[in-house]
Amino acid sequence: MTHISSKLALAIGLAFAGWQTTVLAQSSSATLFDGYVAAGLPQAFALPRPADDERGEGIDQVVIEEKLDTDVVFPDGSHAMTYVGTSNGIEATFTRIGDDLSVSVSDERLEPTVSTGRIRRSAAPEMNDAITLPPSASKRAFSLTAEPQTQAPRELQFWIFLHDQSGETNYAKFHNWYIAWWIRDMEHAVKPGIPVKVIIKDHIPGVTDFDYHQAVTSDRSLVKFGNIADRYLDSAGATPSQITKTMLFVNDVAANWGDYTYGVALQNNTVAMASGTGPRHIVAHEFGHTLGAAHRYAEDRFPCVTNMMGFITPRYSCRIYTGANDLEIRRHVKEALEAIERER
Ligand SMILES: [Zn+2]
Repeated sequence: MTHISSKLALAIGLAFAGWQTTVLAQSSSATLFDGYVAAGLPQAFALPRPADDERGEGIDQVVIEEKLDTDVVFPDGSHAMTYVGTSNGIEATFTRIGDDLSVSVSDERLEPTVSTGRIRRSAAPEMNDAITLPPSASKRAFSLTAEPQTQAPRELQFWIFLHDQSGETNYAKFHNWYIAWWIRDMEHAVKPGIPVKVIIKDHIPGVTDFDYHQAVTSDRSLVKFGNIADRYLDSAGATPSQITKTMLFVNDVAANWGDYTYGVALQNNTVAMASGTGPRHIVAHEFGHTLGAAHRYAEDRFPCVTNMMGFITPRYSCRIYTGANDLEIRRHVKEALEAIERER
């Protein structure tokens, strides 16, 4: 598909190069983008890079193939629209939020998952970021809430709470860095069987100022935050359930997480934490644990690693799970839905 698309992009790009230069001069890349996709997909056209593009100035030949279904809602109420296609023949995701367009291309071989300065190559400890609660504690949160989880919509919801000190203020960049490629993979490969929704929140007193450094152990910290997040969901009219996942997204890692650990999660449960100092797949990784995905099914596909691989290797993120982890996630969602159904 990629090969056909890039040829198409080139052909159409060349054909329209003449008149397009005048169009480019008049409109921002976001306005131009909107104009093309409004005419129906797929579309191939020349797109000037957004002003703050990491690759610097330039014009890309892009093909926009598809708009993703996943709804992503940002704290200001704006919805990110995510498109997939190619840029100069390379797979890319395109994010539109408000007035911003952000483009992310797949080829990032020069970008290791974690800066090599942080890594002691000789030490390769087993990461212990996935915590399994004892069965007596595993029903943690749902009994605390007013609404029974049977009221939960048949929708896989991911609530990401940006910690007050997370430093994340550019929604389009956050979306492109952590979310866009992940929801693409959720739709294209994982296929959980129900719609996916991502809700991002910030500046909520009592939630996004949570002191995640305080607890002695990460399991206590996770349980405590999980309960806080679920109470917030209740107050916001959402229903905590086994298919409603919550995450505290922070900057600094906590000492209680352990060494070489950029996030923590309760395995097969609902709550996770992730640090922006971690690799690009940290959000997909920690949410992956809550969905039943595991390190043992991850793969080192040099020069990249799949989502559930540890973070100590200086590889870039493949930005996919493995087929085996896709299966685990599908199984988790199916079992969670059956459990909700049984309670009805
Ligand atoms: Zn892990």
